[in-house]
Amino acid sequence: MHRSLFFVGRSVLASLWACLLMGLMLWAAPARAVPLRVDITGAQPSIMLGLNAQVLEDAAGQMTLADVQARTQGWVDFHADTFNPGFSRSVWWARVRLHYTGAQTVQRVIDVGTPLQDELDFYVLNAQGTVVQQVATGDRRRFATRPILTHVPALLIELTPGQSVDVYVRMASHDGLQEAVALRLWQPVAYTQALQTETLAFGLYYGALITVLLYNLFLFLSTRQRSFGIYTAYVSAFLLWSFTFRGYAFQYLWPEQPLFNNQVLPIAAAACYVTFGLFVMDYLQSRRLAPLWVHRVLQFSTFGNALCVSPALFGYYALPFALSIPFGVTEMGAALSLGIWLFIKGYRPARYFIIAFTLLSVGVVLYYLRVLGALPSNVVTENFLQIGSALEVLLLAFGLADQMNTLRADKLRAERQALAAQTALNNELESLVKRRTRALESANQRLAAMAITDELTGAYNRRHFNTVFHAEVARHLRNRAPMAFCMLDIDQFKLYNDRYGHLAGDSVLQRVASTINGHLQRAGDQLFRLGGEEFGILLNVDEPPEKVLPFIEKIRADIEGLAIPHELASHPVVTASMGLVWVSGSSPVVRAEEVYASADQLLYQAKAQGRNRVVSQAL
Ligand code: GH3
Ligand code: MG
Ligand code: MG
Repeated sequence: MHRSLFFVGRSVLASLWACLLMGLMLWAAPARAVPLRVDITGAQPSIMLGLNAQVLEDAAGQMTLADVQARTQGWVDFHADTFNPGFSRSVWWARVRLHYTGAQTVQRVIDVGTPLQDELDFYVLNAQGTVVQQVATGDRRRFATRPILTHVPALLIELTPGQSVDVYVRMASHDGLQEAVALRLWQPVAYTQALQTETLAFGLYYGALITVLLYNLFLFLSTRQRSFGIYTAYVSAFLLWSFTFRGYAFQYLWPEQPLFNNQVLPIAAAACYVTFGLFVMDYLQSRRLAPLWVHRVLQFSTFGNALCVSPALFGYYALPFALSIPFGVTEMGAALSLGIWLFIKGYRPARYFIIAFTLLSVGVVLYYLRVLGALPSNVVTENFLQIGSALEVLLLAFGLADQMNTLRADKLRAERQALAAQTALNNELESLVKRRTRALESANQRLAAMAITDELTGAYNRRHFNTVFHAEVARHLRNRAPMAFCMLDIDQFKLYNDRYGHLAGDSVLQRVASTINGHLQRAGDQLFRLGGEEFGILLNVDEPPEKVLPFIEKIRADIEGLAIPHELASHPVVTASMGLVWVSGSSPVVRAEEVYASADQLLYQAKAQGRNRVVSQAL
């Protein structure tokens, strides 16, 4: 951030600068007893006094105006618009002689270019060496000590035609951090105009920052998204820092509390680092996306910056800034590296981050290059920091919104995927249930079939006969539909078993059943195994029903025709006896029991008459 870069850059470059100055002092051109002279005509709207000013270091800080006036050694030329000793515990004196060549007495404003210098003592001496004006101000003195009530200390002097005026400025710091002083002489009208423009520009700038701040605050309050909260805190810290750093906070918020005003600055700077570190970790998702050590570096440097607050709470000013340099550099370095790394890896929010960071950095670099005199002071170098930091804040807000969009899109996609997966699962479950149900149904059907089927012959079993026989017969009688019922018993089967064995007997039962089944073609014709080697055949027949007799006779003949040898029987092959009854549509019979009993009776007769025959009767 430009805070860190500013202070880091300033301290590093300021040290170099101080060395350069020391060198210049040692190598100094012959010292002058009087200040360098600036010729003032009536025309220039403003003049930077630096190039014609001289500076003197008072390491012990004990010198008075008389002492420094008396010094012929030690005064060195400024060589730049801006004087910036950085970390220095000395008192520094600057002086310049203003020689006015205009025709009328005029007023001029001198401003020091920084709102932050702790102690500023101005002495204005006339041509006779008399002090005509003395002002003791600076930002460690109450705001009311300023001759002109502006955020940057300034004083009004009077120039009379043909006269020289010497201006001495004593610059002291509280505990060793000096500000960049750029003495500038203004025509009062030009000064007012410049001040007005600057005030409007900063008004717009702070207005934009406050808008972004409030917007993100409301977003945070309504969404409770941590990112918006952190970002709000960051913009708040930045706003507080900037408002204090520019001297506006002292002017408008706490003009009677100069000490408090000074301590706010390092605290706000630390708060910027800390909130920015938290923002980077949150925004770039370092815990999730960065190597662990990078995340740890960010955590460590952020925490270190938080620690820098403590000396500020005990009244130190230079120390917290000095301490924050390593932590700040580390944090910014890690943040920038991570941003670039994630950008290369294609992480979208990193784009905004890098652009924002770059804009800010350019602003910072231009700012301190100007402060150090390496760049001229112009519209760009003076204002790019403001523009860069405002763009940075806005871009990061955009980035945040974009990130929220991305996260929401990710969430929606994830939800859609979850829904699709759930639907697929449901479908799979449904088809599984269907398959299972079908399997269960067929198992049930098989079970049901098994429950009514005789295992050996495949004919319906006795239980099924008991279930359906009465109903079938009753139905035929009710409908006056003709029907027939035949009972069949294999002849001398006991002997067959005795002679050929039980297994051979079983096979005879199967072959007889399948022979009978081979004849049953009509729907509704049914074969039952009534028990042992006894079968029942239920038949749908046409009128007249006695036409069924040859059909039954054919079954009997086919059983005999199987020619299964049966040595012990009266015939040498397996035969069957049958009792057949038929019921015509006009029959008076009404009960199934009669049908069954008659068939049984007729079978008995067939046995008695010598077996291997059909005995039949109409009912
Ligand atoms: P009839 O000509 O008078 O009918 O004489 P039969 O020997 O056939 O009659 P009986 O009722 O005396 O004997 C029936 C025999 O059928 C008794 C039993 O050994 C045999 N049997 C009954 N059920 C089965 C079976 O499931 N398998 C076999 N192999 N034999 C069976
Ligand atoms: Mg038998
Ligand atoms: Mg029997």
